[in-house]
Amino acid sequence: MNVLVINCGSSSLKYQLINSDSEEVLAKGLCERIGIDGRLVYQKEGCDKEVTEASMPTHKEAIQMVLDALTNDKTGAIKSLKEIDAVGHRVVHGGEKFASSVVIDEEVIKAVEECNDLAPLHNPANLIGINVCKELMPGVPMVAVFDTAFHQTMPAKAYLYGLPIEYYENYKVRRYGFHGTSHSFVSKRTVEFLGLDPENSKVIVCHLGNGSSISAVLNGKCIDTTMGLTPLEGVVMGTRSGNIDPAIIEYIAKKENLDIPAIMNILNKKSGLQGLSKLSSDFRDLNEAAQNGNKYAENAIEVLCYGIAKFVGGYVAALNGVDAITFTAGIGENASLVREKVVEYLGYLGITLDKEANSKRGEEMIISTADSKVKVCVIPTNEELAICRETVALVK
Ligand code: ADP
Repeated sequence: MNVLVINCGSSSLKYQLINSDSEEVLAKGLCERIGIDGRLVYQKEGCDKEVTEASMPTHKEAIQMVLDALTNDKTGAIKSLKEIDAVGHRVVHGGEKFASSVVIDEEVIKAVEECNDLAPLHNPANLIGINVCKELMPGVPMVAVFDTAFHQTMPAKAYLYGLPIEYYENYKVRRYGFHGTSHSFVSKRTVEFLGLDPENSKVIVCHLGNGSSISAVLNGKCIDTTMGLTPLEGVVMGTRSGNIDPAIIEYIAKKENLDIPAIMNILNKKSGLQGLSKLSSDFRDLNEAAQNGNKYAENAIEVLCYGIAKFVGGYVAALNGVDAITFTAGIGENASLVREKVVEYLGYLGITLDKEANSKRGEEMIISTADSKVKVCVIPTNEELAICRETVALVK
């Protein structure tokens, strides 16, 4: 069957049409600048990218353009919309209501709406995508796949913060975790790839991209993760600060005469690698600058790698051991320097790195030596394929 995977953001939308039998991507692309001017990128499998500038006042026009492109006489991947058998939607926040993917009905839409408060930038956009697809493809089954669902197996000791418990009871303030689709996909694949026993496995997944999070997975179930109530917590990211002393918020507010929204903007958009390096949020830029002797870039990379290693060390304690540490996403899959530095801190675990294997990038591989006590590997993530599989499992 053909599954359309939709990842709807506030002003952009990514899509892939996947044949679930062959798991081949028939076409993919994105709509950008929705509500501003509008640009559609469309790429049919085996063909060049087509870029069309066109007015997209709302997500409705954007999704209509995607459907038109997919069914275009000359360049379409399919002949008619009848060939789309199901739609899988990425939904960022499922709160405590969703511990797995679900077929979307009115009740699910209402429950997702109730989580809007927890992800005010993401969930409303995800819902727009769902509602527009329902309107343009009536009768086609749709599935919601939540970023938070995989982490719902965390025990209370991992998800509760040291705050008055009423904040949890009244407002559901707790750790939720994100990137769950990726952590689930990559941890499962790690177990398969290394031939571990699924019922007796301890895996740590480092999803390092623009947004980064790490998870501890015991026998296939997440027991802890670094992102929290929001994706701001945890590792230093492209523009997000990750963990800081919460008292810094008041201190800087006074020094710079800023209010809370202004501080939150700094923590989300002007911190992390961007803030530390004064240069860029993109790891490639920092790597190049560091090689040319830029101290800020060098420090940013050191802070990143040290922080990752500390979380991994903590998760070895949480799991009471570890069989495999896996790197994934843009930095995890490609930046051999980050992998090398992180693994260096973990020598006490009896890990040794195969430097030659580690110099490769972007492919599924083991980068520890044969005698290393813990396997270290790279598994490219594929959230779209994971959403497609979840969708098929629910609608078939
Ligand atoms: P997102 O969270 O936006 O999905 P990605 O997973 O695409 O992010 O990761 C983006 C990060 O990956 C950027 O910091 C980028 O510099 C880094 N990256 C991508 N390709 C490479 C590469 N070849 N070498 C080093 N870093 C890379």
